[in-house]
Amino acid sequence: MAKRALISVSDKTGIVEFAKELQQKHGYTILSTGGTAKLLSKEGVAVTEVSSYTGFPEMMDGRVKTLHPKIHGGLLCLRSNPDHMAQAEKNGIGMIDMVVVNLYPFEATVAKPNCSLEDAIENIDIGGPSMLRSAAKNHQDVTVICDSSDYQKVLDVLENPEELKKLRKLLALKVYQRTASYDTAISNYLQEKYVGGLPERMNISMPLVQKMRYGENPHQAAALYGDFDKFFEKLQGKELSYNNIIDITAATELISEFDKPTVAILKHTNPCGVATCETLLEAWNQAFETDKQAPFGGIIAVNRELDGALAEAIAHIFSEVIIAPSFSKEALEIFSKKKNLRLMINKNAQKSKFTFKSVAGGMLVQEADDIEELKANMKVVTKRQPTEEEWRAMLFGWKVVKHVKSNAIVYAGCERTLGIGAGQMSRVDSSRIAVWKAGEAGLSLKNSIVASDAFFPFADGLAAAAQAGATAAIQPGGSIRDEEVIAEADKNNMAMVFTSIRHFRH
Ligand code: 5GP
Repeated sequence: MAKRALISVSDKTGIVEFAKELQQKHGYTILSTGGTAKLLSKEGVAVTEVSSYTGFPEMMDGRVKTLHPKIHGGLLCLRSNPDHMAQAEKNGIGMIDMVVVNLYPFEATVAKPNCSLEDAIENIDIGGPSMLRSAAKNHQDVTVICDSSDYQKVLDVLENPEELKKLRKLLALKVYQRTASYDTAISNYLQEKYVGGLPERMNISMPLVQKMRYGENPHQAAALYGDFDKFFEKLQGKELSYNNIIDITAATELISEFDKPTVAILKHTNPCGVATCETLLEAWNQAFETDKQAPFGGIIAVNRELDGALAEAIAHIFSEVIIAPSFSKEALEIFSKKKNLRLMINKNAQKSKFTFKSVAGGMLVQEADDIEELKANMKVVTKRQPTEEEWRAMLFGWKVVKHVKSNAIVYAGCERTLGIGAGQMSRVDSSRIAVWKAGEAGLSLKNSIVASDAFFPFADGLAAAAQAGATAAIQPGGSIRDEEVIAEADKNNMAMVFTSIRHFRH
């Protein structure tokens, strides 16, 4: 008996060649649905339409095409079970040995900016997943293909029963991964449309981008999931490591805060130095001046094309990754001598909506920290108003401090960092470190501003900042001792701004 394949695909890539080979080399007869059948017969493949096979027309705009016992019986019937076979025979159900289906493009449809609810709903495939699931359940008898990149793999083993049996298991597994991610996309879409906010049940299904060589440390296995590869393009350099990917994410989130030419140098997700200037080269000089030691082995991100002059300057230090929207020819030439250096193009300005953190038995999910902050909503709480220069420095420092691990203190000038204190268990220690780092770098904090990611709990932090040379402070406010902190600022003739927004980063 000739083997029978059912082919019903939305994405028709490679299907004609595959069907031809199935038919001509392996003697399959082919069942197919409307659009697919049309294409195949036009290309010279003999097909039987599912509607004439079942004796039931395709109807309701294609909503019902293959949902018929002659199709699902032919897929689900256990060939080794005499009862199944007898029932199939009695009901005129022939065996279907292979299913080739890819689904209505739901994900691509809802990704379009003006997709209507009706359009989205019409693109929920019903018969496709049903056939895939039936065939995958019965993978001991049926070969199921849901991805065109598997056509050749199947053809390669079709005449080798042992190998085919092994491949069928993997193909069935792939089907359930695909239908799970398909249903997740639908439920996420409907959640957003009908309910909003975070869902009752977190369905996350992300494709594997790549297995990593290892995780944070060499003895930890690791893999990357999601759409990371759609955000960046790697132009050169070693394979990205687990830690690189974390740092690249932190660097692009930080640089996305700035519109004017800006350079950010990061290490282990914390900025070592950030500056905004007329040109990237000037910005680089000022960012690098903040800390000339820590950037060794760090990540550099810029928000304009990276040109030859800047490449020349950057190439003096060893960096792991450089990220830019584009690189000039001269820059590429200079960097090409550093074979291991990873150059990344940041091609997607979109930010992630949510952030995830693993916790015992699950994970925490939150909206990303991308609240819009307007100067108009900030409040000057001291007797003295900030000068124009102080405002600029404070707004700059406030953008940077948001991306520093808590407790975070940033001393800044007019638009550059001078000293950064990150990740200490007490705010006073972070302040001390920031002042000490500025001193190490030979930078003066006279007339600087200080930015703090959360409120100063005591007046001593403000006193220390004044002593270091800061003339203005920006912080959320909200401590029960705000009065004392404001009094301390006034005592030192400092200007202080409360943002009322906190930026913890734990
Ligand atoms: P065609 O282009 O051949 O007309 O349609 C192929 C698409 O129809 C495939 O994506 C397949 O998953 C889908 N499909 C097959 N049977 C059914 C069905 O009974 N109902 C629905 N809604 N879609 C189906």
